[in-house]
Amino acid sequence: MKIRLENLSKVYNHDFVVKNLTMDINSGEFLVVLGPSGSGKSTTLNMLAGLEIPSSGCIFFHERMVNNVPPGKRDVALVFQNYALYPHMKVYDNIAFPLKIRKEKDMRQKVLKMAEMLGLSVLLQKYPKELSGGERQRVALARALVRNPQVFLMDEPLSNLDARLRLSARGELKKLQRQRNVTTLYVTHDQTEALTLGDRIAIMDKGSLQQIGTPDEIYENPQNAFVASFVGTPPMNMAPINIRNTHSFILGDSIIEFPVLLPVKPDLILGVRPEKLTLTTGKPFSGEGASSPFTIPGTVEHVEYLGHESISHVKIASNIIWYVKGFFEGIKTGEWVSLRFSPDDIHWFDPITKTRIE
Ligand code: ADP
Repeated sequence: MKIRLENLSKVYNHDFVVKNLTMDINSGEFLVVLGPSGSGKSTTLNMLAGLEIPSSGCIFFHERMVNNVPPGKRDVALVFQNYALYPHMKVYDNIAFPLKIRKEKDMRQKVLKMAEMLGLSVLLQKYPKELSGGERQRVALARALVRNPQVFLMDEPLSNLDARLRLSARGELKKLQRQRNVTTLYVTHDQTEALTLGDRIAIMDKGSLQQIGTPDEIYENPQNAFVASFVGTPPMNMAPINIRNTHSFILGDSIIEFPVLLPVKPDLILGVRPEKLTLTTGKPFSGEGASSPFTIPGTVEHVEYLGHESISHVKIASNIIWYVKGFFEGIKTGEWVSLRFSPDDIHWFDPITKTRIE
């Protein structure tokens, strides 16, 4: 079922917590709403669920305006971070409950299959109080997923699982949603969940939609500095620069020669992803005739060893640290290094509006 939000707003105490939100969720789509804490994600989901009434704007399920339709009549299945299971029912009966009240067929078979998918088969005869937090959350997930509603609404449903379980639950969730093709809105502050689960991602900040697009579009073409710095670990490196002329700019105390034509603007924000940088030891030769590809000097503050990769923290100006991903020979704390990257890997942003400049 297709969902449309049109100019949707929610005001609490004269403050917009959701502001003029307009977006479409396509039929069968897995849309992830991603943003920092307090950006209005849960409020948006609660309005879709019918648990909060919009202050203004409209919600359409297919062609029907549902603003005043009560939650029970919307045919949505909800999974929240704070899973509320029925304490007096065993796991089996908790999962079976939504099927029971709708008198659905093949109940036992559906419950057993769902329990197996989420690794709950051996727990079916236990009561919620006998389970760990992660197990309870999986039961809540199973209870929501066991039936076939028109819409799934999920608010951080994997947040109480440990890293290993979260990885497998993510896989199962995506598989189930693909098989069933149920329109899904999934709220999270975790960019890995967003990038791995979403057909598209809607990024919110301070109640407003910042960008909506496929994971690839969001990562490769962030439309503003907020999206650029929110998605990606470590975040995109940024630095304000002043343009000197068509082929050089000032960054901190350094004059950087640039091999291709610079945008015609006095000031810009230069952004580059940590994995696009390479490090060599020693300070680059600067000034006239600096070689291409161009280089930025810095000093190594710290190197984080993560097993499969390293992240070097490099100070490139008095208050700017850039992160560099990857292993590089002979990098030592406190020493001068040269950072290299291709001009093609730069993202330019306007220093005032923070929007992308192509
Ligand atoms: P998120 O899910 O992105 O963390 P929320 O939608 O939960 O954000 O909250 C957005 C903002 O709205 C927060 O600043 C929160 O304090 C505020 N808020 C949420 N619910 C209420 C409420 N019932 N009354 C007043 N303020 C609220």
